[in-house]
Amino acid sequence: MEVTWTPERIEQLTKLWDEGVTTAEIGRRIGVTKNAVIGKVHRIGLIPRIVTEKPQPRRNVFDFVGPVCMWPIGHPTDEDFHFCGGRPAAGRPYCTEHSAVAYIRPKEKPEAA
Ligand SMILES: [Zn+2]
Repeated sequence: MEVTWTPERIEQLTKLWDEGVTTAEIGRRIGVTKNAVIGKVHRIGLIPRIVTEKPQPRRNVFDFVGPVCMWPIGHPTDEDFHFCGGRPAAGRPYCTEHSAVAYIRPKEKPEAA
């Protein structure tokens, strides 16, 4: 069954789409099937959008509230790279554990390999 896409319907479709209404709901509101909505969206090239809740992006250092240990765990290119996030030791940027690592460094290594 061919849907008649009147200018009014297209306008409504575009508006509802922009509002983030689901394709099924758009279909109900303007009286066409969900598939007709999807097909039309493709044809007129509306920007695809995600209606469902997006998973929370990976927390990064800027999401932390308050002072936290910023000791990097792993390598920045690793998938599970993250910052420690522990409670910093008093007057230190790192937690007790990592302050120990950060401030008790071995004497300068000789350059010779
Ligand atoms: Zn730490």
